[in-house]
Amino acid sequence: MSHFKITCSKCGKTLEDTYCAFCEHCPNSLLVTDYIEKEFRDDQGEGIWKFNWLPVHKPTSVVDGPVVFRSDGLGKELGLKNLYISFSGYWPEAGAMVRSCTFKEFEAAVVLENARDNDVDGLVVASAGNTARAFAHLSEVTGYSAIIVVPLMCLDEMWYLEPPGEVPTVIVSDGDYSDAIDMARKIARMTGLPFEGGVKNVAKRDGLGVVMMEAASTIGRLPDHYFQAVGSGAGAIAAWEMSMRFQSDPRYAGVMPRMHIAQNLPFAPMVKAWNRGERTLRKEDLAPELIGRISTRVLSSRYPSYDTMGGVYDALSETGGFAYGVTNEEVAESGALFERLEGIDIVPAASVAVGALRQAARNGNVGADDVVLLNITGGGEKRLKQDARAYGVSGLHVSKKTPEDELKFTLCWILSNIY
Ligand SMILES: *Cc1c(COP(=O)(O)O)cnc(C)c1O
Repeated sequence: MSHFKITCSKCGKTLEDTYCAFCEHCPNSLLVTDYIEKEFRDDQGEGIWKFNWLPVHKPTSVVDGPVVFRSDGLGKELGLKNLYISFSGYWPEAGAMVRSCTFKEFEAAVVLENARDNDVDGLVVASAGNTARAFAHLSEVTGYSAIIVVPLMCLDEMWYLEPPGEVPTVIVSDGDYSDAIDMARKIARMTGLPFEGGVKNVAKRDGLGVVMMEAASTIGRLPDHYFQAVGSGAGAIAAWEMSMRFQSDPRYAGVMPRMHIAQNLPFAPMVKAWNRGERTLRKEDLAPELIGRISTRVLSSRYPSYDTMGGVYDALSETGGFAYGVTNEEVAESGALFERLEGIDIVPAASVAVGALRQAARNGNVGADDVVLLNITGGGEKRLKQDARAYGVSGLHVSKKTPEDELKFTLCWILSNIY
Protein backbone atom coordinates (compact mmCIF):
# COMPACT_ATOMS: atom_id res chain seq x y z
CA MET A 1 0.00 0.00 0.00
CA SER A 2 1.20 3.48 -0.81
CA HIS A 3 2.14 5.74 2.10
CA PHE A 4 0.37 8.70 0.48
CA LYS A 5 -2.56 9.85 -1.63
CA ILE A 6 -2.75 12.81 -3.97
CA THR A 7 -5.74 15.09 -3.52
CA CYS A 8 -7.00 18.25 -5.19
CA SER A 9 -6.80 21.18 -2.77
CA LYS A 10 -9.95 22.66 -4.28
CA CYS A 11 -12.49 19.88 -4.93
CA GLY A 12 -10.95 17.23 -2.68
CA LYS A 13 -10.86 14.59 -5.40
CA THR A 14 -8.31 11.83 -4.79
CA LEU A 15 -6.04 10.81 -7.65
CA GLU A 16 -3.97 7.75 -8.35
CA ASP A 17 -0.26 7.99 -7.74
CA THR A 18 0.65 9.00 -11.27
CA TYR A 19 3.55 11.19 -12.28
CA CYS A 20 2.66 14.87 -12.06
CA ALA A 21 -1.08 14.39 -12.16
CA PHE A 22 -3.55 17.24 -12.47
CA CYS A 23 -7.16 17.60 -11.47
CA GLU A 24 -9.38 17.75 -14.54
CA HIS A 25 -12.02 19.86 -12.76
CA CYS A 26 -9.72 22.47 -11.24
CA PRO A 27 -6.94 23.50 -13.64
CA ASN A 28 -5.97 26.48 -11.51
CA SER A 29 -5.53 24.66 -8.22
CA LEU A 30 -2.63 22.66 -6.82
CA LEU A 31 -2.77 18.99 -5.98
CA VAL A 32 -1.29 18.13 -2.60
CA THR A 33 0.19 14.98 -1.16
CA ASP A 34 -1.79 13.52 1.71
CA TYR A 35 0.49 11.24 3.74
CA ILE A 36 -1.15 8.42 5.67
CA GLU A 37 1.24 8.89 8.61
CA LYS A 38 0.28 12.08 10.40
CA GLU A 39 3.31 12.03 12.68
CA PHE A 40 6.55 13.39 11.31
CA ARG A 41 9.47 10.97 11.25
CA ASP A 42 13.13 11.42 10.41
CA ASP A 43 14.40 7.88 10.87
CA GLN A 44 13.52 6.30 7.54
CA GLY A 45 16.89 6.28 5.78
CA GLU A 46 19.94 8.32 4.78
CA GLY A 47 20.13 11.97 3.74
CA ILE A 48 16.82 13.40 2.62
CA TRP A 49 15.32 9.90 2.53
CA LYS A 50 15.23 9.90 6.33
CA PHE A 51 11.96 11.88 6.14
CA ASN A 52 8.61 10.07 5.91
CA TRP A 53 6.81 12.86 4.04
CA LEU A 54 8.28 12.38 0.57
CA PRO A 55 6.32 10.80 -2.32
CA VAL A 56 8.94 8.17 -3.14
CA HIS A 57 8.64 4.45 -2.43
CA LYS A 58 12.14 3.08 -2.89
CA PRO A 59 14.83 5.71 -3.38
CA THR A 60 17.84 4.51 -5.35
CA SER A 61 20.10 7.51 -4.70
CA VAL A 62 22.04 8.97 -1.81
CA VAL A 63 21.19 12.66 -1.50
CA ASP A 64 22.32 14.86 1.35
CA GLY A 65 19.91 17.39 2.81
CA PRO A 66 20.50 20.94 4.05
CA VAL A 67 22.17 21.67 7.37
CA VAL A 68 20.25 23.79 9.87
CA PHE A 69 22.18 25.59 12.61
CA ARG A 70 21.72 28.44 15.02
CA SER A 71 23.45 31.55 13.73
CA ASP A 72 25.99 33.30 15.81
CA GLY A 73 27.43 35.99 13.59
CA LEU A 74 24.46 37.20 11.56
CA GLY A 75 22.04 36.72 14.45
CA LYS A 76 24.09 38.95 16.70
CA GLU A 77 24.55 41.56 13.96
CA LEU A 78 20.77 41.77 13.42
CA GLY A 79 19.80 41.49 17.09
CA LEU A 80 18.05 38.14 16.62
CA LYS A 81 18.61 35.65 19.44
CA ASN A 82 17.01 32.67 17.70
CA LEU A 83 18.07 32.97 14.12
CA TYR A 84 18.42 29.57 12.44
CA ILE A 85 20.01 29.18 9.06
CA SER A 86 19.19 26.39 6.65
CA PHE A 87 22.19 26.04 4.36
CA SER A 88 21.75 24.09 1.11
CA GLY A 89 25.15 23.89 -0.48
CA TYR A 90 28.71 22.73 -0.17
CA TRP A 91 30.41 23.46 3.14
CA PRO A 92 32.01 20.27 4.42
CA GLU A 93 33.32 22.02 7.57
CA ALA A 94 29.68 22.48 8.61
CA GLY A 95 28.54 19.07 7.36
CA ALA A 96 26.86 20.47 4.23
CA MET A 97 27.54 18.22 1.24
CA VAL A 98 25.12 19.43 -1.43
CA ARG A 99 27.59 19.50 -4.31
CA SER A 100 25.28 21.13 -6.84
CA CYS A 101 25.17 23.98 -4.31
CA THR A 102 21.43 24.76 -4.13
CA PHE A 103 18.20 23.40 -2.69
CA LYS A 104 17.19 22.52 -6.26
CA GLU A 105 19.02 19.26 -5.62
CA PHE A 106 16.26 18.08 -3.24
CA GLU A 107 13.64 18.95 -5.84
CA ALA A 108 15.55 17.11 -8.56
CA ALA A 109 16.06 14.02 -6.40
CA VAL A 110 12.44 13.69 -5.36
CA VAL A 111 11.08 14.48 -8.85
CA LEU A 112 13.36 11.94 -10.55
CA GLU A 113 12.70 9.18 -8.01
CA ASN A 114 8.98 9.86 -8.12
CA ALA A 115 9.01 9.73 -11.94
CA ARG A 116 10.96 6.47 -11.79
CA ASP A 117 8.43 5.03 -9.31
CA ASN A 118 5.76 5.84 -11.88
CA ASP A 119 7.63 4.14 -14.76
CA VAL A 120 8.28 7.41 -16.59
CA ASP A 121 11.26 7.02 -18.96
CA GLY A 122 12.77 10.47 -18.80
CA LEU A 123 11.96 14.11 -18.18
CA VAL A 124 12.25 17.49 -19.85
CA VAL A 125 13.38 20.25 -17.50
CA ALA A 126 13.60 24.01 -18.06
CA SER A 127 16.00 26.07 -16.01
CA ALA A 128 17.70 29.43 -15.61
CA GLY A 129 20.65 27.77 -13.93
CA ASN A 130 20.43 25.95 -10.64
CA THR A 131 17.68 23.52 -11.61
CA ALA A 132 19.71 22.54 -14.68
CA ARG A 133 22.78 21.73 -12.61
CA ALA A 134 20.75 19.85 -9.99
CA PHE A 135 18.93 17.71 -12.57
CA ALA A 136 22.12 17.18 -14.56
CA HIS A 137 23.85 15.94 -11.44
CA LEU A 138 20.98 13.81 -10.17
CA SER A 139 20.35 12.24 -13.55
CA GLU A 140 24.04 11.31 -13.61
CA VAL A 141 23.90 9.94 -10.05
CA THR A 142 20.70 7.95 -10.59
CA GLY A 143 21.27 6.98 -14.23
CA TYR A 144 17.94 8.53 -15.11
CA SER A 145 17.62 10.69 -18.24
CA ALA A 146 16.63 14.31 -18.29
CA ILE A 147 16.72 16.72 -21.24
CA ILE A 148 17.63 20.14 -19.92
CA VAL A 149 16.54 23.36 -21.62
CA VAL A 150 18.29 26.62 -20.73
CA PRO A 151 18.31 30.18 -22.09
CA LEU A 152 21.60 31.36 -23.62
CA MET A 153 21.36 34.61 -21.63
CA CYS A 154 21.92 32.65 -18.40
CA LEU A 155 24.80 30.54 -19.67
CA ASP A 156 27.65 32.66 -18.38
CA GLU A 157 26.47 32.12 -14.79
CA MET A 158 25.90 28.39 -15.29
CA TRP A 159 28.05 25.39 -14.54
CA TYR A 160 27.74 21.62 -14.31
CA LEU A 161 29.51 19.08 -12.14
CA GLU A 162 29.67 16.87 -15.24
CA PRO A 163 32.03 17.38 -18.19
CA PRO A 164 30.62 18.73 -21.50
CA GLY A 165 28.65 16.24 -23.58
CA GLU A 166 27.46 14.09 -20.67
CA VAL A 167 24.22 15.93 -20.04
CA PRO A 168 21.74 16.41 -22.90
CA THR A 169 21.23 20.17 -22.97
CA VAL A 170 19.24 22.38 -25.35
CA ILE A 171 20.20 26.05 -25.38
CA VAL A 172 17.59 28.59 -26.47
CA SER A 173 19.72 31.25 -28.12
CA ASP A 174 17.08 33.99 -28.05
CA GLY A 175 14.77 34.73 -25.14
CA ASP A 176 14.79 34.32 -21.40
CA TYR A 177 13.93 31.70 -18.78
CA SER A 178 10.24 31.82 -19.64
CA ASP A 179 11.07 31.14 -23.31
CA ALA A 180 13.10 28.14 -22.15
CA ILE A 181 9.98 26.92 -20.32
CA ASP A 182 7.95 27.27 -23.52
CA MET A 183 10.63 25.36 -25.45
CA ALA A 184 10.73 22.60 -22.81
CA ARG A 185 6.95 22.21 -23.06
CA LYS A 186 7.27 21.95 -26.84
CA ILE A 187 10.04 19.34 -26.58
CA ALA A 188 7.99 17.39 -24.06
CA ARG A 189 5.06 17.33 -26.45
CA MET A 190 7.27 16.26 -29.37
CA THR A 191 9.21 13.54 -27.53
CA GLY A 192 6.36 12.24 -25.41
CA LEU A 193 8.54 12.67 -22.33
CA PRO A 194 6.79 14.59 -19.56
CA PHE A 195 7.69 18.17 -18.72
CA GLU A 196 8.98 18.40 -15.18
CA GLY A 197 5.78 20.28 -14.44
CA GLY A 198 7.02 23.14 -12.32
CA VAL A 199 5.13 24.10 -9.22
CA LYS A 200 2.22 21.76 -10.04
CA ASN A 201 4.41 18.74 -9.47
CA VAL A 202 3.80 17.53 -5.91
CA ALA A 203 7.17 15.74 -5.92
CA LYS A 204 8.92 19.04 -6.62
CA ARG A 205 7.18 20.89 -3.80
CA ASP A 206 7.58 18.11 -1.26
CA GLY A 207 11.25 17.87 -2.24
CA LEU A 208 11.74 21.56 -1.54
CA GLY A 209 9.81 21.03 1.70
CA VAL A 210 12.83 19.08 2.95
CA VAL A 211 14.14 22.41 4.27
CA MET A 212 11.19 22.78 6.65
CA MET A 213 11.48 19.12 7.72
CA GLU A 214 15.19 19.50 8.47
CA ALA A 215 14.46 22.69 10.44
CA ALA A 216 11.73 21.00 12.49
CA SER A 217 14.00 18.03 13.08
CA THR A 218 16.94 20.17 14.25
CA ILE A 219 15.14 22.93 16.14
CA GLY A 220 12.49 20.63 17.60
CA ARG A 221 9.67 22.97 16.58
CA LEU A 222 8.53 25.01 13.60
CA PRO A 223 9.96 28.54 13.26
CA ASP A 224 7.82 31.64 13.83
CA HIS A 225 9.13 33.14 10.58
CA TYR A 226 10.45 31.75 7.31
CA PHE A 227 12.54 33.87 4.90
CA GLN A 228 13.21 32.94 1.28
CA ALA A 229 14.03 34.58 -2.05
CA VAL A 230 11.36 33.53 -4.55
CA GLY A 231 11.25 33.10 -8.31
CA SER A 232 8.56 30.61 -9.29
CA GLY A 233 7.19 30.58 -5.75
CA ALA A 234 7.51 26.79 -5.47
CA GLY A 235 9.95 26.84 -2.55
CA ALA A 236 7.82 29.17 -0.43
CA ILE A 237 4.61 27.28 -1.24
CA ALA A 238 6.44 24.08 -0.32
CA ALA A 239 7.53 25.52 3.04
CA TRP A 240 3.98 26.65 3.76
CA GLU A 241 2.41 23.31 2.75
CA MET A 242 4.95 21.42 4.84
CA SER A 243 4.18 23.63 7.85
CA MET A 244 0.49 22.82 7.46
CA ARG A 245 1.32 19.12 7.33
CA PHE A 246 3.09 19.50 10.70
CA GLN A 247 -0.13 20.82 12.24
CA SER A 248 -1.47 17.27 12.29
CA ASP A 249 1.41 16.19 14.54
CA PRO A 250 0.64 17.21 18.15
CA ARG A 251 4.36 17.69 18.89
CA TYR A 252 4.57 20.51 16.33
CA ALA A 253 1.00 21.82 16.07
CA GLY A 254 0.17 25.39 17.02
CA VAL A 255 3.05 27.27 15.41
CA MET A 256 2.53 28.40 11.82
CA PRO A 257 5.55 30.17 10.32
CA ARG A 258 4.87 33.54 8.75
CA MET A 259 6.05 33.57 5.17
CA HIS A 260 8.49 36.36 4.28
CA ILE A 261 9.30 36.41 0.56
CA ALA A 262 11.93 38.47 -1.25
CA GLN A 263 12.71 39.41 -4.84
CA ASN A 264 15.44 41.38 -6.55
CA LEU A 265 14.38 44.90 -7.63
CA PRO A 266 13.46 46.06 -10.19
CA PHE A 267 12.10 42.62 -11.27
CA ALA A 268 9.87 41.83 -8.30
CA PRO A 269 6.37 41.13 -9.65
CA MET A 270 5.08 39.22 -6.61
CA VAL A 271 6.53 41.66 -4.08
CA LYS A 272 5.02 44.63 -5.91
CA ALA A 273 1.61 42.98 -6.22
CA TRP A 274 1.54 41.89 -2.57
CA ASN A 275 2.57 45.30 -1.30
CA ARG A 276 -0.27 46.85 -3.33
CA GLY A 277 -2.66 44.31 -1.85
CA GLU A 278 -3.33 42.74 -5.25
CA ARG A 279 -3.94 39.09 -6.10
CA THR A 280 -3.14 39.59 -9.76
CA LEU A 281 0.32 40.34 -11.16
CA ARG A 282 0.61 43.42 -13.33
CA LYS A 283 1.88 43.13 -16.85
CA GLU A 284 4.25 46.07 -16.47
CA ASP A 285 5.93 44.32 -13.51
CA LEU A 286 6.63 41.28 -15.72
CA ALA A 287 8.36 43.24 -18.50
CA PRO A 288 11.37 41.31 -19.87
CA GLU A 289 13.33 44.57 -19.85
CA LEU A 290 13.33 44.47 -16.02
CA ILE A 291 14.97 41.03 -16.02
CA GLY A 292 18.07 42.42 -17.67
CA ARG A 293 18.53 44.73 -14.69
CA ILE A 294 18.67 42.23 -11.81
CA SER A 295 21.70 40.34 -10.54
CA THR A 296 19.79 37.12 -9.75
CA ARG A 297 18.53 35.50 -12.95
CA VAL A 298 17.30 32.42 -11.07
CA LEU A 299 14.57 34.64 -9.63
CA SER A 300 13.39 35.86 -13.01
CA SER A 301 10.35 33.65 -13.68
CA ARG A 302 7.58 35.47 -15.53
CA TYR A 303 5.20 32.57 -14.70
CA PRO A 304 5.23 32.48 -10.91
CA SER A 305 2.53 30.69 -8.93
CA TYR A 306 1.13 33.76 -7.29
CA ASP A 307 -2.63 33.89 -7.81
CA THR A 308 -3.05 30.10 -8.12
CA MET A 309 -5.27 28.68 -5.42
CA GLY A 310 -2.81 27.55 -2.75
CA GLY A 311 -0.10 29.73 -4.30
CA VAL A 312 2.11 32.49 -2.95
CA TYR A 313 -0.71 35.01 -2.43
CA ASP A 314 -2.58 32.49 -0.27
CA ALA A 315 0.60 31.54 1.61
CA LEU A 316 1.18 35.20 2.48
CA SER A 317 -2.40 36.00 3.40
CA GLU A 318 -2.98 32.85 5.45
CA THR A 319 0.17 33.36 7.50
CA GLY A 320 0.18 37.16 7.80
CA GLY A 321 3.31 37.32 5.68
CA PHE A 322 5.49 40.05 4.23
CA ALA A 323 7.25 40.75 0.92
CA TYR A 324 10.52 42.60 0.38
CA GLY A 325 12.16 44.20 -2.64
CA VAL A 326 15.95 44.02 -2.48
CA THR A 327 18.16 46.17 -4.74
CA ASN A 328 21.27 44.88 -6.53
CA GLU A 329 23.36 46.95 -4.16
CA GLU A 330 21.72 45.39 -1.10
CA VAL A 331 22.19 41.94 -2.67
CA ALA A 332 25.94 42.43 -3.02
CA GLU A 333 26.25 43.98 0.43
CA SER A 334 24.18 41.23 2.09
CA GLY A 335 26.19 38.46 0.43
CA ALA A 336 29.46 39.98 1.63
CA LEU A 337 28.04 40.49 5.12
CA PHE A 338 26.90 36.87 5.33
CA GLU A 339 30.25 35.54 4.17
CA ARG A 340 32.12 37.69 6.68
CA LEU A 341 29.87 36.79 9.62
CA GLU A 342 29.15 33.11 8.91
CA GLY A 343 32.28 32.13 7.05
CA ILE A 344 30.87 30.73 3.80
CA ASP A 345 30.03 32.20 0.39
CA ILE A 346 26.39 32.17 -0.72
CA VAL A 347 24.73 32.52 -4.14
CA PRO A 348 23.23 35.93 -5.06
CA ALA A 349 19.65 34.64 -4.77
CA ALA A 350 20.32 33.64 -1.17
CA SER A 351 21.73 37.11 -0.56
CA VAL A 352 18.31 38.47 -1.56
CA ALA A 353 16.83 36.59 1.41
CA VAL A 354 19.54 37.96 3.69
CA GLY A 355 18.70 41.48 2.42
CA ALA A 356 15.05 40.86 3.28
CA LEU A 357 15.92 39.66 6.77
CA ARG A 358 18.00 42.79 7.36
CA GLN A 359 15.01 44.94 6.36
CA ALA A 360 12.69 42.91 8.59
CA ALA A 361 15.00 43.19 11.60
CA ARG A 362 15.25 46.96 11.04
CA ASN A 363 11.52 47.60 10.70
CA GLY A 364 10.36 45.21 13.44
CA ASN A 365 8.66 42.55 11.30
CA VAL A 366 10.52 40.01 13.43
CA GLY A 367 11.02 40.23 17.18
CA ALA A 368 14.39 39.74 18.94
CA ASP A 369 13.26 36.47 20.58
CA ASP A 370 11.29 35.04 17.66
CA VAL A 371 12.48 31.79 16.12
CA VAL A 372 13.47 32.76 12.58
CA LEU A 373 14.42 30.37 9.76
CA LEU A 374 16.50 31.92 7.00
CA ASN A 375 16.57 29.68 3.95
CA ILE A 376 20.01 30.05 2.37
CA THR A 377 18.86 28.38 -0.81
CA GLY A 378 22.34 28.06 -2.24
CA GLY A 379 25.96 28.49 -1.33
CA GLY A 380 29.47 27.17 -1.19
CA GLU A 381 30.21 27.49 -4.90
CA LYS A 382 33.55 29.11 -4.14
CA ARG A 383 34.24 26.49 -1.50
CA LEU A 384 33.38 23.66 -3.88
CA LYS A 385 35.81 24.91 -6.48
CA GLN A 386 38.66 24.23 -4.03
CA ASP A 387 37.69 20.54 -4.02
CA ALA A 388 36.02 19.79 -7.34
CA ARG A 389 35.95 20.87 -10.92
CA ALA A 390 33.11 22.92 -12.41
CA TYR A 391 32.46 22.77 -16.14
CA GLY A 392 30.92 25.32 -18.46
CA VAL A 393 27.58 24.36 -19.99
CA SER A 394 27.41 23.46 -23.66
CA GLY A 395 24.67 21.94 -25.74
CA LEU A 396 22.65 22.15 -28.93
CA HIS A 397 21.51 25.63 -29.88
CA VAL A 398 17.95 26.27 -31.02
CA SER A 399 15.92 29.42 -31.49
CA LYS A 400 12.43 29.93 -30.17
CA LYS A 401 11.56 30.48 -33.83
CA THR A 402 13.10 27.16 -34.98
CA PRO A 403 10.39 25.33 -36.95
CA GLU A 404 9.22 22.03 -35.49
CA ASP A 405 10.57 19.81 -38.28
CA GLU A 406 14.04 21.25 -37.77
CA LEU A 407 13.67 20.86 -34.02
CA LYS A 408 12.84 17.21 -34.62
CA PHE A 409 16.34 16.60 -36.00
CA THR A 410 17.93 18.11 -32.92
CA LEU A 411 15.74 15.99 -30.68
CA CYS A 412 16.43 12.78 -32.59
CA TRP A 413 20.11 13.44 -32.16
CA ILE A 414 19.72 14.03 -28.43
CA LEU A 415 17.45 11.02 -27.91
CA SER A 416 19.78 8.72 -29.82
CA ASN A 417 22.52 9.78 -27.44
CA ILE A 418 20.44 9.07 -24.34
CA TYR A 419 18.89 5.73 -25.21
C1 LIG B 1 15.27 28.61 -7.67
C2 LIG B 1 15.94 29.35 -6.59
C3 LIG B 1 15.24 30.21 -5.76
C4 LIG B 1 13.77 30.50 -5.94
O1 LIG B 1 12.97 29.41 -5.70
P1 LIG B 1 11.52 29.28 -6.33
O2 LIG B 1 11.04 27.98 -5.84
O3 LIG B 1 11.66 29.31 -7.84
O4 LIG B 1 10.71 30.43 -5.88
C5 LIG B 1 15.93 30.83 -4.74
N1 LIG B 1 17.24 30.63 -4.56
C6 LIG B 1 17.95 29.80 -5.34
C7 LIG B 1 19.40 29.61 -5.08
C8 LIG B 1 17.34 29.13 -6.39
O5 LIG B 1 18.05 28.33 -7.16
